[in-house]
Amino acid sequence: MWNLQYSIPTFLILSIFLVFYIARPKIPTRINRTFIMLLLTDVVNMIFNYVSTYMDNDPSSYSITALYITNYLFFVFYILRSFLFCQFTINVLELNHRKIPLTYLLNGGVLFACQILTAVSPWLHTVFSIDGQGYHSGPFYNMMTVHFLYYLVVSMFLLLGSGKKLSLFQYIAVLSYDLILFLGIAIRLAFPHIVLMDLFCLLAIIIQFLAFQNPDNYIEKRTRFFNRFAFEILLSETIPEKLAGNLLGFVLKNYTDNRILYGGAQMDSGITAIAGFLHNHYPSFRFYYLRNGEFVIEAKPDTDLNALRSQIAARFLQPWNRDYAKLYLQVGFVIANQSLAFDSSEQFMDCLESAFREVDQIGANECLIIDEHRKREREQYLLIKRAIENAIKEQNVQVFLQPIVDAKTHKLAGAEALARLEDPHLGLIMPGDFISLAEENGSIISLGEQIFRKVCGFMAYYGNQLHLAWINVNLSPIQCMDPNLIDEFSSIIEEYHLTPSRIHLEITEQENVDHRLLKKQIQEMTAKGFSFVLDDYGTGYSNIDRIKKLPLINVKMDMSIVWEYFDHPDSLLPLSIQMLKDMGFSVTAEGVETEEMARELYKMGCSYLQGYYFSKPVPLEEFYKKYHVTE
Ligand code: C2E
Ligand code: MG
Ligand code: MG
Repeated sequence: MWNLQYSIPTFLILSIFLVFYIARPKIPTRINRTFIMLLLTDVVNMIFNYVSTYMDNDPSSYSITALYITNYLFFVFYILRSFLFCQFTINVLELNHRKIPLTYLLNGGVLFACQILTAVSPWLHTVFSIDGQGYHSGPFYNMMTVHFLYYLVVSMFLLLGSGKKLSLFQYIAVLSYDLILFLGIAIRLAFPHIVLMDLFCLLAIIIQFLAFQNPDNYIEKRTRFFNRFAFEILLSETIPEKLAGNLLGFVLKNYTDNRILYGGAQMDSGITAIAGFLHNHYPSFRFYYLRNGEFVIEAKPDTDLNALRSQIAARFLQPWNRDYAKLYLQVGFVIANQSLAFDSSEQFMDCLESAFREVDQIGANECLIIDEHRKREREQYLLIKRAIENAIKEQNVQVFLQPIVDAKTHKLAGAEALARLEDPHLGLIMPGDFISLAEENGSIISLGEQIFRKVCGFMAYYGNQLHLAWINVNLSPIQCMDPNLIDEFSSIIEEYHLTPSRIHLEITEQENVDHRLLKKQIQEMTAKGFSFVLDDYGTGYSNIDRIKKLPLINVKMDMSIVWEYFDHPDSLLPLSIQMLKDMGFSVTAEGVETEEMARELYKMGCSYLQGYYFSKPVPLEEFYKKYHVTE
């Protein structure tokens, strides 16, 4: 006789899970499909477990055929359930049939073999048999334990091999549901007449639900749309085979500014209103809210995205009303070219994000297409990012030197250090292509320190031989704001037994820097003996009043203003040079390409000259050879 007393509460709890899970919104991912199949299989298995056990306890009241059918169906779903538990782990670990073809084949093979063994039982009495006395286990009955153990061992092995991508919490979750199922099997073997396996399966399912399947983990609160996490999972399951779907993205322009302008609460209710509008007008589409005003609409495959875009743009001409407030918001759109193939979901996500950032900058209702060009541009960007990381790791930033000469004698006075990166794919990467990226991701700090160190090394070994009074090093505004800059640079200077005056620091005036902080930093470093040069004078943003108050030793005229003068001579350049000299600064002219320019600029009052007329920037060894011989 079997004891079924634990089955009823287990069944009730499981049913609640099933109804709850079916009712909540979900994205159609592999893991979600597996989980729902697992729930359904478990429910059906429990029903047949209960029915068959009930009938087996009183076999004389039922026909042999009825007993065969109920017992057979119990076995079918029991085997399927253990297969799905393992499949769930495979999905959690994002392993597909391409990554682990052999395991897929074996798992399917075991499932198939077990089902065949069960199916032939009425004739061959393999797993079970029924006769006048009722139910009997067959010689292959142990298959029920063995196959479950097989799937659990596979699940454990996969976790050991590929579990690194999981968080610790998720790792422990997979481990615990596997262990609980092991325990279930052990208890089933120890007490075969108490039907307890279902309870252990329920515990395993609860762990799966809490750790991976809670639909709330995938929902954004304000919009009730799917969140970025859900979108990334969807992409990772479809790419590289195909694009996720017919996608239209849009972003609320100037999101951060608008949040300050309207306040966070109002902005949030605006986002809720937009979500409500989308939901009501396009009930059959799926929506995602990524972050900071970024929406993605997954339309039907035959939806005309341009028409959809016009409809949404038209709605944004009206304000979004919440209570008494009116929000005026603008949008920019992004469409992904459907025929474009992506190597990975990360690559698609990166293109989408860059398009969102860009469309935020251009006019309202503009639409950007994620096309081949953007893809290649982003690939280039990632290559450069990698080259920067590599240069930091390998300490192989290339420093080139360009001579700066005395304007009167044309003799070498100093030099400017200009950075380059060397990359096996891209060749020599120029600062214009990597400095802003390094500033964006903060790597300019370690890159800048490496450049400074190399320049100091060169100055310490060869400076005196070459009669180099100083070398200018470019500092990006981010470096200037770094509170550790003084200590780091001072200790490097000491390490090479140099005086700080041998290295001049070139800074630029920029709108987006904190001028008070910059001035403080410059003053403190000047007190320690460092000298500052103002670079790129005459480009866009120079505030004479502020410059006047900075302890600078030299100002460099940007080559654009120098060239402008030689194209269309007027008094701007001569007057600027004169004014800077009157303020007590010496002046260097950049971009000197001809003898005539050199002569004129000297006459105008420049103290130093720099440009291709004298030399292009060259590697350190070349610089040494060139000036060691001639000087
Ligand atoms: P910059 O500091 O104004 O440097 C002068 C730029 O003008 C250099 O370009 C130099 O090669 C170029 N140049 C000099 N003379 C001539 C000339 O006669 N004709 C022409 N056509 N060009 C000339 P480069 O090396 O590409 O550097 C570009 C900018 O990148 C630099 O402008 C500087 O702002 C930045 N940069 C370079 N190295 C570093 C660095 O180590 N750190 C930081 N933060 N920025 C750097
Ligand atoms: Mg410079
Ligand atoms: Mg410059």
